[in-house]
Order: sequence, then C-alpha cells, then structure tokens
Amino acid sequence: MKILVINSGSSSLKFELIDMTNEKTISKGICERVGIANPIFTYKNLGKDIKIDKQEAPMKDHSAAIDLVLKTLQDKEIGVISNVDEIDAIGHRVVHGGEYYDDSVIIDEEVIKNLEEVSALAPLHNPANIMGIKVMKKLLPEKKNVAVFDTAFHQTMKPEAYMYPLPYEDYTELKVRKYGFHGTSHKYVSEVTAKLLGKENSKIIVCHLGNGASISAVKDGKVVDTSMGMTPLAGIMMGTRTGDIDPAASLYVMEKRGLSIKEIDTRMNKKSGILGIFGESSDFRDLENAMKAGNERAKLAYDMFCYRVKFYIGAYAAAMDGVDAIAFTGGIGENGSDPRATICEGLSYLGVKFDFEKNGIRTSGNVELSMPDSKIKVYKIETAEELVIARDTYRLTK
Ligand code: ADP
Repeated sequence: MKILVINSGSSSLKFELIDMTNEKTISKGICERVGIANPIFTYKNLGKDIKIDKQEAPMKDHSAAIDLVLKTLQDKEIGVISNVDEIDAIGHRVVHGGEYYDDSVIIDEEVIKNLEEVSALAPLHNPANIMGIKVMKKLLPEKKNVAVFDTAFHQTMKPEAYMYPLPYEDYTELKVRKYGFHGTSHKYVSEVTAKLLGKENSKIIVCHLGNGASISAVKDGKVVDTSMGMTPLAGIMMGTRTGDIDPAASLYVMEKRGLSIKEIDTRMNKKSGILGIFGESSDFRDLENAMKAGNERAKLAYDMFCYRVKFYIGAYAAAMDGVDAIAFTGGIGENGSDPRATICEGLSYLGVKFDFEKNGIRTSGNVELSMPDSKIKVYKIETAEELVIARDTYRLTK
C-alpha cells in the first residue's frame, strides 16, 4: 500500500510517497515557483539515493506540476514505481476545515463544496489546496483522495477557549472564532509524547516552533487550547508573522501609513515577527548568528520569541491545571538548543529540571531533555506531518 501525500500551495507543491507497510518514505520533493517565472523542481529517490536539486522544469500551472511529479515517480531510471496503479490513494493537506471537520475525510463533491465555502477563512491556503485536489482527481480519476485538515485536531476546544469576545453574530453569521492550525503536528507529537510518558492520562504542552509556530495544550489526547486563531497569524511571534498584538495597533498603523486591508495583512503576515524586529532575515539560524556577533536587534527578537513561548507555556499549564510534559518540535524546536534552554530556564516554578548538558548535544530522534528527577518531562520530538496525512488516508481508504 503506497500513499501519495500532496501539500499544494499557491505557487508550490510538495509531495511525498510513503510505503504504509513500513511507514517509510520512498520519495519526496517539491515543485516551486509553479505558474511563475523559472519554476524549479527538487526530487529525491530515497531507496537509490538519487537527488535532483532545484532543477529548472516547465510548470505553467499545478496540473503541469502534478503531471511532472507522476512522470518522475514512474521514470525508469530515477522513479520508484512502475506505474500509477501502485499508488493506492492520495492524501491532501488542507489548511482549513472550518467547523465542518473534526477528522480527515474522503473527498467527494460535497466536501469540495464545503472547502470552497470555508476558503473565505483561509484565502491564501484553501484555494491552492482545492486546486491540488481537483487536478489530482482529473489526472487519476480512479483513485481515492482524502483531505487531512490543519484545523481538525483542535475541534475539541470548548467554547470558552475558541470564542472571541466580538458581537455574537460575528460567530453565527461569519464563523469568526479560534480554529487553530498545525493540527497534524500537534496530534502526532502529543501522541508520541504520551507514549513516552507511559501514563494513561496526560497533560502535554506541544511547542511547534518553525517558521510558522504554534503551541497547544493537549489533555488526555484532546486539545484544550492552541495559540493560533481564526488564521495562523495569532499566538506566538513567528518568522514573519506578528503573533498576538493589540488589534488596535494594526488599525493605528493602517491609518497613519495609509495602508489598505491587503497591505496591513501583508505587513503583519510577511514583514513582521523575527524579520520585522531583526530586519535582516526571518530565519532563526541567521538570527542566532547575528546575535552572537553582537547585533542588538537580533538579541531583542530572540528574547521576544523565547519570552512569548514561555508565556504560553505558563498559560497552558494554568488552562490544564498542571502539565506532565513539554514537547519541542518544528525546525527551531527540534534543532535550536539555545532557544530551548532559554525557554526552559525559567520554568523551575512548574517543576522543570532541565538537562542543559544533554540539550546541547545534537542527536537525531526523540530525546528526553529533562533530568531523571524532573517533575515535568521535557522532550524534543521529531514531527512527521506527512506521515499523519498518509496514516489517515490509509485508515479511510484501505
Ligand atoms: P516551516 O515548516 O514552518 O517552514 P520549519 O519547521 O522547517 O518551518 O522551521 C524552519 C526554522 O527552523 C527556520 O527559522 C530555521 O532557521 C530553523 N532552524 C533550522 N535549523 C536550526 C538550528 N540548528 N538552530 C536553530 N534554528 C534552526
């Protein structure tokens, strides 16, 4: 059983072919700059250790990109399958499922209709996800397609956590509320952490720290709260996104700078966060290098980032009336030993005894980073969002 995972963005398309008999990735890659000038293709055949790195390839639209992916997967020399019949089903990452979906779903016409309706809440993401689904259905009409949502795992939040104190009709008529994102990662990482804890009932705080970043409070496998909101702009400070700010501050900037709604949206989503404060890059490694070289704005951005993560950990310990484990994941959470140390330094009041030495040693896999006698465990967990999508697709279509 082989599952093709598709993550279709507005100008990119990531793909991964996973063998479900051993849950190993057979091949993966990314089509970038789809539909714009100089599209590039990256591909890996993991079994044969073959790599195509950022090669120019014609991809005038998503249909051409998926066509190229399918042809490459079947290529005699660099491919991994002899024909498309070896692909059993396709799993699509879909960013927003609104209130319709608390689990993954096999895609039919009604699902597509619902996703199109929900697109108003995620105009940058859902239309691109739907485009990937439609192209796949056209190119491989016999195959089953499954939608796996970023929002679904968070649907267990109670109204007191997900409602915004706006006029009630903004919820009933416009569906304005907190939904949360990165659900596949929060689900996977909280499950792995619960297993490591070996406790039936567990209170886990998952810190997914990547370019996009979010934190969630997961009690007994169910999300109590999460830091992203109606859109992925809310919560902690991110690579280019503000995270939480006083909404009046954005209205003030809009007025003073004469910005349109689109311009303030771009400013808060693409020009803020680490990039906004540091000014040179949104990348955490660049930030750390600049900070070590004495750049004060880099230091400020680093301190703000760590402070906000710590702030949410405290809030979520309160939301769950305690915490058993804190799990770090995502590019920064998995690799950034310094930010992990800075964040955990101030958590002794919760009962965290952090192992600073072990934290500094680079090891792959899932690692416990707290002392054996720490009341609260701290872990680094490698997330696997594509695997969650493949597992759900397999579960619903096998
Ligand atoms: P996304 O999936 O949201 O695009 P990732 O989870 O891939 O993001 O994380 C990307 C971030 O991880 C970047 O800011 C990058 O600098 C950071 N990162 C990667 N390696 C390290 C490292 N060794 N130390 C600190 N940060 C790192």
